[in-house]
Amino acid sequence: MNQNCPELECKSENGIIKDGFYFRKDDSKKIQRYKCKNCGKRFSRSTSSLFYRAKRRRDTNLIKHLVCSSTSIRRISKILKMNRNSVTKRVDKLEKIALLQHKNLLKSLEEEPISHLQFDDLLTYEHTKMKPLSVSLAVCQNTRIILGAEVSRIPAFGHLAKKSRKKYGYRKNEHEKGLTRLFESLYKCIDQNAIIKSDKHKTYPKYVSKYFQSAEHLTYEGGRSCVAGLGELKRKGYDPLFILNHTCAMLRDSLKVLSRKTWCSVKRVDRLQQQLNIFISYYNFDYLHYKFNTS
Ligand SMILES: [Zn+2]
Repeated sequence: MNQNCPELECKSENGIIKDGFYFRKDDSKKIQRYKCKNCGKRFSRSTSSLFYRAKRRRDTNLIKHLVCSSTSIRRISKILKMNRNSVTKRVDKLEKIALLQHKNLLKSLEEEPISHLQFDDLLTYEHTKMKPLSVSLAVCQNTRIILGAEVSRIPAFGHLAKKSRKKYGYRKNEHEKGLTRLFESLYKCIDQNAIIKSDKHKTYPKYVSKYFQSAEHLTYEGGRSCVAGLGELKRKGYDPLFILNHTCAMLRDSLKVLSRKTWCSVKRVDRLQQQLNIFISYYNFDYLHYKFNTS
């Protein structure tokens, strides 16, 4: 029994005894109650849990599946007849669980580092194409698992650059910050002699040589995209970055805000990061059924 007294001032150790059960109607479960022998405080297994006092617990898993199945938060609230704010709060909690699972995964990978890494950026926008965003993504080539995704703001480019500066002013380029966050989170789980593949983006070699001195960095020319694959899969026969491009296509298909030509655009950058965090855990564990050593 690894329960402790929830009373902050109470410092009792092993002073907890079982104190019956109660039946939780919401998900039809028997919940163990405890009593502190020191201060007499009564509490239950649910008191310290993330979903303490949550209503409609049965819908939590469904919300996770819907978020990762190209459904907007507003549509989820319509489907489940639930307030939009309640859905958002549940998504906050789902992110906490997803981040914990991902942290454990990265920790387990430190023991058996990854030998083949692929990384690239996926472009999207917040509110308008004049305010683009970049999602830096890293995947393992052998197991296909996503190792990390970081969103960063970038200035508009091409024919929209001038128009964007005129309408929204100067927009800072935070792409390098995003890449730093990505590499900081995963460099420990990559083998120092790994083979790292990416496209010919000009900032990539700097990061690869900074974090992996002895790794081999292979860069490939991008190609024209084919009709299927949401602009991510390439028309050429053999694509050396297929695993990464396929993951990008999965992201575009699975998260509503990343799909192309959509009405449902990103309004807040932190919410996109949140959905990505949930999707990473969903993709690795629910879709690929990846199992790692929990020793
Ligand atoms: Zn106590």
